[in-house]
Amino acid sequence: RRGASLTDLAEKIGVEAASLVQVLFHLGEMVTATQSVADDTLEVLGAELDYNIEVVSPEDEDRELLESFDLEFGEDIGDEDDLEARPPVVTVMGHVDHGKTKLLDALRNSNVQAREAGGITQAIGAYQVETEVDGNERKITFIDTPGHEAFTAMRARGAKSTDIAVLVVAADDGVMPQTIEALNHAKAADVPIVVAVNKVDKDTADPTRVRGQLSEFGLVPEEYGGDTQFVDVSAITGQGLENLLESIVLTADAALDLRANPDMPAQGVAIEAHLDKGRGPVATVLVHRGTLRIGESIVAGSAHGRVRALINDQGQNVDEAPPSMPVQVLGLTSVPGAGDNVLVVDDDRMARQIADKREARMRAAQQAKASRRKTLDQLFEQ
Ligand code: GDP
Ligand code: MG
Repeated sequence: RRGASLTDLAEKIGVEAASLVQVLFHLGEMVTATQSVADDTLEVLGAELDYNIEVVSPEDEDRELLESFDLEFGEDIGDEDDLEARPPVVTVMGHVDHGKTKLLDALRNSNVQAREAGGITQAIGAYQVETEVDGNERKITFIDTPGHEAFTAMRARGAKSTDIAVLVVAADDGVMPQTIEALNHAKAADVPIVVAVNKVDKDTADPTRVRGQLSEFGLVPEEYGGDTQFVDVSAITGQGLENLLESIVLTADAALDLRANPDMPAQGVAIEAHLDKGRGPVATVLVHRGTLRIGESIVAGSAHGRVRALINDQGQNVDEAPPSMPVQVLGLTSVPGAGDNVLVVDDDRMARQIADKREARMRAAQQAKASRRKTLDQLFEQ
């Protein structure tokens, strides 16, 4: 395991930790028994002792854990014949003050369906908007937590929960450092980008300049012969919002094959979670595949439980959540982390076993970290 100490290794291969310390000392490395050891040092040590040591990453470790329960996360979205179209999941990114929050609010409020349902949309960390494209009603899911921190955190955990990035650039300010940062994150994640040129209501707006600037970073507007959709919008006046929704759908159709089998045990990602005074742990889950239903046993990171209630972005109780639909899930025993994977499993027992194993592992990793810090502190004291 990554970050393992000599004591851990000694236990695994049934030798005294002290002798491992000695072997390493002769190889020119000073390591204490409880200190966590670099991957390559462990491998060198293995070679010296005629052991084949493979250092396992936390991701691999979790994969192995799930495999031991005959589960697999993320890979299987269903057989070709069972796949059905699902809405794109969109994250809004961009430089501070360029209008991400305002735009997300404006899009949410422009949602006709939401207004008809009673107006007040819940802040659950994600919401769905409907738009008509070529005579068809199309849904789009927006993750309502702007900023690429969440995005990056989720990607780091191998949970790809964004299909398309909307890059917001204020037309009066132009491309700024965080614009480039956001753009690079999206590119690294291989997520197509739609550019929302915001604040075009302002006198000082220069949307043409934004197009020129971004072209230099490889985002060439369609009207210049490139393949990136640029849409002029104003989060204040509402101008261009319908065009933005349409561009998202068109980009999804052109660049992505967004399908999943809705008839299999649900899997998804927790995009937000907190402890509610009255309702207990509440997690907003974005379903990737399958359909999440009330009464099912789930494991979410190191939390587990049985789905007691599902609440949609309108604050309504629903019985199920199909792919790409964000729902609040009630019934977990603890609060999962943002980016944790969520899986429906056979029964409560299995859910608890997986959650407990993950919990134990997290605690061990934290202890290894703490003890490493302690040995370093001791070194500096001398
Ligand atoms: P964020 O930091 O990217 O989330 O930006 P905000 O949504 O908080 O917006 C920053 C400021 O720009 C606020 O004062 C908004 O009212 C203003 N703003 C956002 N969108 C527009 C727009 O389309 N037009 C104008 N004139 N102002 C906007
Ligand atoms: Mg904001």
